[in-house]
Amino acid sequence: MAAVLMRFPGGRRKAYTMSYDDGSVHDKRFAETLARYEIKATLNIQTREIGFDAGKLSWDEIKALAASPLLEIAAHGHRHLSLAAVEDGVAAYDVVKNREMLEDQLGCIVRGMAYANGSVNDRVLEILSACGMAYARTTASTEGFEVPADFLRWNPSCHHTTPRLFDIAKTFLESEERSYPWHNRPMLFYVWGHSHEFAREGGWELLEKLCAYVGGRDDIWYATNGEIVSYVNAYRTLIFSHDQSLVHNPSATDLFLTVDHTPYKIPAGETVRLS
Ligand SMILES: [Zn+2]
Repeated sequence: MAAVLMRFPGGRRKAYTMSYDDGSVHDKRFAETLARYEIKATLNIQTREIGFDAGKLSWDEIKALAASPLLEIAAHGHRHLSLAAVEDGVAAYDVVKNREMLEDQLGCIVRGMAYANGSVNDRVLEILSACGMAYARTTASTEGFEVPADFLRWNPSCHHTTPRLFDIAKTFLESEERSYPWHNRPMLFYVWGHSHEFAREGGWELLEKLCAYVGGRDDIWYATNGEIVSYVNAYRTLIFSHDQSLVHNPSATDLFLTVDHTPYKIPAGETVRLS
Protein backbone atom coordinates (compact mmCIF):
# COMPACT_ATOMS: atom_id res chain seq x y z
CA MET A 1 0.00 0.00 0.00
CA ALA A 2 1.24 3.42 -0.90
CA ALA A 3 2.30 5.72 1.92
CA VAL A 4 -0.35 8.45 2.25
CA LEU A 5 1.12 11.10 4.54
CA MET A 6 -0.20 14.43 5.74
CA ARG A 7 1.46 17.61 4.61
CA PHE A 8 0.94 21.02 6.20
CA PRO A 9 -0.53 24.00 4.26
CA GLY A 10 1.24 24.63 0.98
CA GLY A 11 2.38 21.00 0.90
CA ARG A 12 5.10 21.58 3.51
CA ARG A 13 6.42 18.64 5.53
CA LYS A 14 7.53 20.75 8.50
CA ALA A 15 5.74 23.02 10.97
CA TYR A 16 7.05 25.15 13.81
CA THR A 17 5.19 26.50 16.82
CA MET A 18 5.90 28.03 20.24
CA SER A 19 3.90 28.14 23.48
CA TYR A 20 4.69 30.48 26.39
CA ASP A 21 3.03 30.48 29.79
CA ASP A 22 1.95 32.71 32.66
CA GLY A 23 1.21 36.08 31.05
CA SER A 24 4.26 37.99 32.27
CA VAL A 25 5.08 41.46 30.91
CA HIS A 26 8.04 39.88 29.13
CA ASP A 27 5.52 38.40 26.66
CA LYS A 28 5.63 41.80 24.93
CA ARG A 29 9.32 41.65 24.07
CA PHE A 30 8.91 37.95 23.25
CA ALA A 31 6.15 38.82 20.76
CA GLU A 32 8.15 41.70 19.25
CA THR A 33 11.12 39.41 18.70
CA LEU A 34 9.04 36.69 17.04
CA ALA A 35 7.29 39.25 14.84
CA ARG A 36 10.60 40.26 13.25
CA TYR A 37 10.96 36.69 12.03
CA GLU A 38 7.22 36.16 11.33
CA ILE A 39 7.18 33.26 13.76
CA LYS A 40 3.86 32.46 15.41
CA ALA A 41 3.15 31.50 19.01
CA THR A 42 0.49 30.79 21.58
CA LEU A 43 0.44 32.68 24.89
CA ASN A 44 -1.17 30.83 27.81
CA ILE A 45 -2.69 33.15 30.37
CA GLN A 46 -4.00 32.46 33.88
CA THR A 47 -6.71 35.04 34.43
CA ARG A 48 -6.72 35.60 38.18
CA GLU A 49 -3.30 37.24 38.08
CA ILE A 50 -3.96 39.62 35.20
CA GLY A 51 -2.73 43.03 36.26
CA PHE A 52 -1.85 41.49 39.63
CA ASP A 53 1.45 43.37 39.88
CA ALA A 54 3.97 45.12 37.65
CA GLY A 55 5.26 41.77 36.43
CA LYS A 56 1.93 40.63 34.97
CA LEU A 57 0.25 41.72 31.77
CA SER A 58 -2.83 43.96 32.05
CA TRP A 59 -6.00 43.33 30.06
CA ASP A 60 -5.09 46.18 27.70
CA GLU A 61 -1.71 44.60 27.04
CA ILE A 62 -3.27 41.18 26.46
CA LYS A 63 -5.77 42.72 24.04
CA ALA A 64 -2.95 44.36 22.12
CA LEU A 65 -1.12 41.02 21.88
CA ALA A 66 -4.31 39.19 20.89
CA ALA A 67 -4.74 41.61 17.96
CA SER A 68 -1.55 40.28 16.33
CA PRO A 69 -2.16 37.74 13.55
CA LEU A 70 1.01 36.01 14.76
CA LEU A 71 -0.35 35.25 18.23
CA GLU A 72 -3.05 33.11 19.80
CA ILE A 73 -4.24 33.61 23.37
CA ALA A 74 -4.99 30.37 25.20
CA ALA A 75 -5.86 29.31 28.71
CA HIS A 76 -3.61 28.28 31.60
CA GLY A 77 -6.19 27.87 34.39
CA HIS A 78 -7.88 30.77 36.15
CA ARG A 79 -5.89 30.12 39.33
CA HIS A 80 -3.05 28.09 37.77
CA LEU A 81 -4.16 24.98 39.66
CA SER A 82 -2.56 21.56 39.26
CA LEU A 83 -5.70 20.02 37.75
CA ALA A 84 -4.78 16.41 38.55
CA ALA A 85 -4.49 17.28 42.24
CA VAL A 86 -7.88 18.92 42.82
CA GLU A 87 -11.55 17.85 42.84
CA ASP A 88 -13.28 17.49 39.46
CA GLY A 89 -15.51 20.51 40.01
CA VAL A 90 -12.61 22.67 41.11
CA ALA A 91 -10.61 21.64 38.04
CA ALA A 92 -13.56 22.28 35.71
CA TYR A 93 -14.16 25.71 37.23
CA ASP A 94 -10.49 26.64 36.83
CA VAL A 95 -10.75 25.87 33.11
CA VAL A 96 -14.20 27.31 32.40
CA LYS A 97 -13.67 30.50 34.42
CA ASN A 98 -10.37 31.04 32.58
CA ARG A 99 -12.12 30.51 29.23
CA GLU A 100 -15.02 32.74 30.12
CA MET A 101 -12.85 35.68 31.14
CA LEU A 102 -10.54 35.43 28.12
CA GLU A 103 -13.41 35.00 25.65
CA ASP A 104 -15.48 37.83 27.13
CA GLN A 105 -12.57 40.27 27.21
CA LEU A 106 -11.02 39.34 23.87
CA GLY A 107 -14.13 38.50 21.88
CA CYS A 108 -12.64 35.30 20.51
CA ILE A 109 -13.01 31.55 21.01
CA VAL A 110 -10.49 30.03 23.43
CA ARG A 111 -10.25 26.29 22.99
CA GLY A 112 -6.68 25.47 23.96
CA MET A 113 -4.51 25.63 27.03
CA ALA A 114 -1.28 24.62 28.66
CA TYR A 115 -1.56 22.54 31.81
CA ALA A 116 -0.51 24.60 34.82
CA ASN A 117 2.49 22.84 36.38
CA GLY A 118 2.13 20.22 33.62
CA SER A 119 -0.53 18.56 35.77
CA VAL A 120 -2.67 16.05 33.83
CA ASN A 121 -4.11 12.56 34.19
CA ASP A 122 -6.87 10.58 32.45
CA ARG A 123 -9.57 12.22 34.59
CA VAL A 124 -8.34 15.69 33.65
CA LEU A 125 -8.58 14.80 29.95
CA GLU A 126 -12.29 14.04 30.39
CA ILE A 127 -12.83 17.30 32.27
CA LEU A 128 -11.12 19.28 29.52
CA SER A 129 -13.25 17.64 26.83
CA ALA A 130 -16.37 18.46 28.81
CA CYS A 131 -15.17 22.07 29.07
CA GLY A 132 -14.82 22.31 25.28
CA MET A 133 -11.05 22.28 25.11
CA ALA A 134 -9.59 20.98 21.86
CA TYR A 135 -5.97 20.84 22.92
CA ALA A 136 -3.67 21.16 25.91
CA ARG A 137 0.10 21.14 26.17
CA THR A 138 2.00 19.13 28.75
CA THR A 139 5.51 19.83 30.06
CA ALA A 140 6.86 16.42 28.93
CA SER A 141 9.46 17.15 26.27
CA THR A 142 9.87 14.48 23.60
CA GLU A 143 12.89 15.97 21.79
CA GLY A 144 11.02 14.65 18.72
CA PHE A 145 8.71 16.01 16.06
CA GLU A 146 5.64 13.79 16.09
CA VAL A 147 2.20 15.24 15.43
CA PRO A 148 0.28 14.14 18.55
CA ALA A 149 -2.41 11.47 18.24
CA ASP A 150 -4.31 13.15 21.11
CA PHE A 151 -4.10 16.94 21.23
CA LEU A 152 -5.23 16.94 24.87
CA ARG A 153 -1.90 15.28 25.65
CA TRP A 154 0.27 17.44 23.44
CA ASN A 155 3.87 16.82 24.42
CA PRO A 156 6.19 19.57 23.15
CA SER A 157 9.57 18.95 21.52
CA CYS A 158 11.54 20.84 24.17
CA HIS A 159 11.82 23.71 26.61
CA HIS A 160 14.06 26.50 25.28
CA THR A 161 16.48 26.12 28.20
CA THR A 162 17.54 22.59 27.26
CA PRO A 163 21.24 22.53 26.39
CA ARG A 164 20.22 20.38 23.39
CA LEU A 165 18.01 23.13 21.90
CA PHE A 166 20.17 23.82 18.86
CA ASP A 167 20.91 20.13 18.29
CA ILE A 168 17.18 19.46 18.19
CA ALA A 169 16.61 22.46 15.92
CA LYS A 170 19.40 21.28 13.62
CA THR A 171 17.87 17.81 13.33
CA PHE A 172 14.56 19.44 12.41
CA LEU A 173 15.96 21.91 9.89
CA GLU A 174 18.33 19.52 8.17
CA SER A 175 15.90 16.62 7.82
CA GLU A 176 15.43 15.93 4.14
CA GLU A 177 12.99 13.80 2.21
CA ARG A 178 14.19 10.19 2.23
CA SER A 179 13.79 7.49 -0.40
CA TYR A 180 11.64 5.16 1.73
CA PRO A 181 8.27 6.96 1.67
CA TRP A 182 7.17 5.93 5.16
CA HIS A 183 10.18 7.76 6.59
CA ASN A 184 8.78 11.08 5.39
CA ARG A 185 6.17 11.67 8.06
CA PRO A 186 5.31 15.30 8.81
CA MET A 187 7.53 16.97 11.40
CA LEU A 188 6.31 19.38 14.06
CA PHE A 189 8.90 21.28 16.12
CA TYR A 190 7.34 22.69 19.29
CA VAL A 191 9.27 24.88 21.75
CA TRP A 192 7.79 26.02 25.07
CA GLY A 193 8.78 28.05 28.10
CA HIS A 194 8.08 31.24 30.03
CA SER A 195 9.07 34.61 28.60
CA HIS A 196 10.36 35.78 32.00
CA GLU A 197 13.13 33.19 31.58
CA PHE A 198 14.49 35.29 28.70
CA ALA A 199 14.96 38.20 31.12
CA ARG A 200 17.84 36.28 32.70
CA GLU A 201 21.36 36.82 31.46
CA GLY A 202 21.71 35.94 27.80
CA GLY A 203 18.07 34.98 27.49
CA TRP A 204 16.96 37.44 24.84
CA GLU A 205 20.07 36.70 22.80
CA LEU A 206 19.14 33.02 22.92
CA LEU A 207 15.62 33.78 21.64
CA GLU A 208 17.03 35.97 18.88
CA LYS A 209 19.44 33.24 17.84
CA LEU A 210 16.69 30.60 17.84
CA CYS A 211 14.34 32.76 15.77
CA ALA A 212 17.09 33.63 13.28
CA TYR A 213 17.94 29.93 12.96
CA VAL A 214 14.41 28.52 12.64
CA GLY A 215 12.59 31.47 11.03
CA GLY A 216 12.26 32.66 7.44
CA ARG A 217 12.25 29.29 5.69
CA ASP A 218 9.92 28.47 2.82
CA ASP A 219 9.77 24.78 3.73
CA ILE A 220 8.33 25.43 7.22
CA TRP A 221 4.76 26.34 8.14
CA TYR A 222 4.84 28.79 11.06
CA ALA A 223 1.62 28.46 13.04
CA THR A 224 0.01 28.97 16.42
CA ASN A 225 -0.96 25.91 18.42
CA GLY A 226 -4.62 26.47 17.53
CA GLU A 227 -3.91 26.73 13.80
CA ILE A 228 -2.08 23.42 13.89
CA VAL A 229 -4.97 21.74 15.73
CA SER A 230 -7.51 23.14 13.26
CA TYR A 231 -5.51 21.98 10.26
CA VAL A 232 -4.69 18.50 11.56
CA ASN A 233 -8.27 17.92 12.74
CA ALA A 234 -9.52 18.92 9.28
CA TYR A 235 -7.01 16.49 7.74
CA ARG A 236 -8.31 13.73 10.00
CA THR A 237 -11.78 14.11 8.47
CA LEU A 238 -10.53 13.01 5.01
CA ILE A 239 -12.51 10.08 3.62
CA PHE A 240 -10.64 7.55 1.47
CA SER A 241 -11.92 4.81 -0.87
CA HIS A 242 -10.96 1.24 0.03
CA ASP A 243 -7.76 1.32 -2.06
CA GLN A 244 -6.88 5.00 -1.41
CA SER A 245 -7.43 5.83 -5.08
CA LEU A 246 -10.03 8.46 -4.17
CA VAL A 247 -10.13 10.92 -1.32
CA HIS A 248 -12.90 13.31 -0.29
CA ASN A 249 -12.28 16.44 1.78
CA PRO A 250 -15.50 17.27 3.66
CA SER A 251 -13.87 20.17 5.52
CA ALA A 252 -13.74 23.89 4.72
CA THR A 253 -9.91 23.80 4.59
CA ASP A 254 -7.70 22.99 1.60
CA LEU A 255 -5.63 19.97 2.64
CA PHE A 256 -2.32 18.57 1.45
CA LEU A 257 -0.82 15.09 1.39
CA THR A 258 1.72 12.97 -0.42
CA VAL A 259 1.21 9.52 -1.91
CA ASP A 260 4.68 8.00 -1.72
CA HIS A 261 6.58 10.98 -3.12
CA THR A 262 3.81 12.61 -5.15
CA PRO A 263 2.25 15.75 -3.65
CA TYR A 264 -1.49 16.41 -3.82
CA LYS A 265 -3.74 19.27 -2.84
CA ILE A 266 -7.25 18.24 -1.79
CA PRO A 267 -9.37 21.38 -2.05
CA ALA A 268 -12.11 22.01 0.50
CA GLY A 269 -15.27 20.10 -0.30
CA GLU A 270 -13.77 18.24 -3.28
CA THR A 271 -13.01 14.66 -4.23
CA VAL A 272 -9.61 13.97 -5.81
CA ARG A 273 -8.26 10.91 -7.59
CA LEU A 274 -4.87 9.82 -6.28
CA SER A 275 -2.97 7.95 -8.93
ZN1 LIG B 1 2.38 28.31 34.49
